[in-house]
Amino acid sequence: MSTFRAVRIDKTETGTSAQWADFDEAELMDGDVDVAIKHTTVNYKDGLAITGKAPIARRFPLIPGIDFSGVVEKSSSPQFKPGDKVLLTGYGVGEGHLGGFAQKARVKSDWLVPLPAGLGMDEAMAIGTAGFTAMLSVQALERFGVKPSDGAAVVTGAAGGVGSVAVALLKKAGWHVIASTGRPQEAEYLKGIGADEIIDRAELSAPGKALGKARWAAGVDTVGSHTLANVLAQTKMHGAVAACGNAQGLDLPGSVAPFILRGVSLLGIDSVMCPMAQRVAAWTRLASDLDRSVLKAMTTHMPFDKVMDAARDIMDGKVRGRVVIDVG
Ligand code: NDP
Repeated sequence: MSTFRAVRIDKTETGTSAQWADFDEAELMDGDVDVAIKHTTVNYKDGLAITGKAPIARRFPLIPGIDFSGVVEKSSSPQFKPGDKVLLTGYGVGEGHLGGFAQKARVKSDWLVPLPAGLGMDEAMAIGTAGFTAMLSVQALERFGVKPSDGAAVVTGAAGGVGSVAVALLKKAGWHVIASTGRPQEAEYLKGIGADEIIDRAELSAPGKALGKARWAAGVDTVGSHTLANVLAQTKMHGAVAACGNAQGLDLPGSVAPFILRGVSLLGIDSVMCPMAQRVAAWTRLASDLDRSVLKAMTTHMPFDKVMDAARDIMDGKVRGRVVIDVG
């Protein structure tokens, strides 16, 4: 096929607009591997790109979609051959390079991860950047040395994509998991994927004290702002918190008290430019540790033509867990 269907973001006088378009293969950007996309997904960043609520698009026209899985069609790289199953997350794809809300992509072979053994292409997108980020967060906590015998682990934004996978992975690793959510109606869902306790996100989202009662030894925070400040202020002596998101805000309005009086550590998580060796290790562990029935319970499948609706829904906090978009 010389043309393919995709979502196209253009610059307008007032911002950006997103619509369906037919692209010509000649419009694809530089890369040594062509991939027939089978599945993509919707991450928070895709919601920002489609709605134009943050300047995610860094070239125009842009095909959004920061993740995809698919089959190699053409390759001039010795690393991949036609028929290989691959996945891609991050590296600025769907931001500065044409992305995954399309039937086809041309990318650099250095950005592609061979699909781990035992993982379906749809399952890879059920995980996506969100689940990959959750795994990077859990691995960062483990590398730091905090362990389940030290106390509980809290997950904020627990009913979201990163949060849901973090709950499941922490439970699998033996933690007592405290899930913070603004959606009490999702309590049963959260317990089903591994939460031991549910707390209302209102307990953490307002301005709080410099130090509070120590409630957990570890945390995965997808929310930022006052929530992260309160999570830190309620972390036990020598505990650690992985900061990976900003659903409440980019600010961190707290104090140094947790760091200097309790020796708490804050671990930063970046999935976009994560080095390849760490990337492959995280995907390998996701393939082995993430219970498929739990992954299925947190995943909704949608057809390709619903991708923009799903991107708007994630901005409205209406998406539970993860969404897989079936492209081809
Ligand atoms: P989702 O929208 O799926 O989840 C975010 C969750 O945060 C929501 O489901 C909700 O959880 C909670 N939330 C939303 N708004 C607020 C608010 N105002 N105050 C408190 N809680 C709120 O997004 P993702 O899981 O895909 O991404 C989560 C965050 O992680 C985003 O900020 C995203 O940009 C970031 N991210 C960072 C990455 C990195 O490389 N560091 C990679 C991937 C994502 P609930 O309903 O349970 O309260």
